[in-house]
Amino acid sequence: MVSWKPVNVPKTTGDRLSLALRGGSVSGGIEHRAWVEINLSAIAHNVKQIKTVLSPQTALMAVVKADAYGHGAISVAQATCEAGAKGLAVATIPEGIELREAGIDQPILVLGAAHTPEEVKAIAHWNLQATLCTPQQALLFSQTLNTCNQTLSVHLNIDTGMSRLGTAWQQATEFVQLVQRLPNLTLVGIYSHFATADSPDQTVMRQQHQRFQQVIDNIKTLEHWDFSQPSQRPCLHISNSAAALTDQALHYDLVRVGLAVYGLYPAPHLQSTVQLQPAMQVKARVTQVKTLDADTGVSYGYRYVTEKPTKIAVVGIGYADGVPRNLSNKMQVLIRGQFVPQIGAVTMDQLMLDVSSIPDLQVGEIVTLLGQDGKYSISADDWADTLGTISWEILCGFKHRLPRII
Ligand SMILES: *Cc1c(COP(=O)(O)O)cnc(C)c1O
Repeated sequence: MVSWKPVNVPKTTGDRLSLALRGGSVSGGIEHRAWVEINLSAIAHNVKQIKTVLSPQTALMAVVKADAYGHGAISVAQATCEAGAKGLAVATIPEGIELREAGIDQPILVLGAAHTPEEVKAIAHWNLQATLCTPQQALLFSQTLNTCNQTLSVHLNIDTGMSRLGTAWQQATEFVQLVQRLPNLTLVGIYSHFATADSPDQTVMRQQHQRFQQVIDNIKTLEHWDFSQPSQRPCLHISNSAAALTDQALHYDLVRVGLAVYGLYPAPHLQSTVQLQPAMQVKARVTQVKTLDADTGVSYGYRYVTEKPTKIAVVGIGYADGVPRNLSNKMQVLIRGQFVPQIGAVTMDQLMLDVSSIPDLQVGEIVTLLGQDGKYSISADDWADTLGTISWEILCGFKHRLPRII
């Protein structure tokens, strides 16, 4: 799964980063043209900050799907659990296996749906917790586990209005009763997911919450559970980052927090809640500097043409690394603590900058695409705003190609 090799930077070095970037002993002489820096202290800080708004009975589950939103699932899983997370959530079975293979022994919930006996066996073999979305799935799980004489901890996903996975809230009671009857399944959780928790208008979220509460009130009357004893009943959860930062009444037994762990706010109106630190920075190097005449086209399609003689820098990062091509001509980067405009189409592996404001710029100098350089910083929210998308998508764009420096 992991296509990059983490760079092992010796802890004793004074300036770890500059050593790492120069290659040398750190990366076997290969100079990285671009890289992602992950600050695990920021991740730990964010977990502790989020915990300040949780009541002591509410656990924090760190959502580390999509390689921890591009931050590296294994190291983020370790850092969040050390900082007090009580479980992990992934989207797919291979994501869960990756964590188990790395020796992580926390509960791991697979949020996605499994449909084949092979998937069921893999979930059981790796001691993952499964999400059951439909009665058919529950039957498949129970039968498959029966043949191999294993039991599995399962969470039921109830659709209260997201219209994604899950059994409709109106049928939730029957679903719960079915799963209780089926052998080889241990019902450890019942959950739902909000569609609009990041909106300042809480109407839909409150309606979903009411439906979830209705489901709970209905199943409370089933004889099997003592709801006053959290250990005697399934764990209840519905909140993502936005809901976790909005209201304790939405927290129940645990909150499933993704984005906020990585230091970004789900929405501007939630910025006053806790103090988060972005954990990811994206940097690259200048690989060539040149001066173009006036009226010279730059990059594919000549989407930028110089008006005057222009000093440009070529930078070794492109859309295959995670810089969205739609940012072409619309983004700025930081060099020596100052903003510099990007020009022309972003290409697969490289992009160009107008560096006329830095006449003595040298090949090898560091360009900050996301993160802080001196007084200024550029965040995934800035890119998302320009593109009309969300910061989640920007972060996930960095999960594949670039080396990570932890
Ligand atoms: C991705 C996901 C989360 C985390 O959402 P954030 O907004 O990043 O906190 C929680 N629950 C489910 C079911 C998810 O798919």
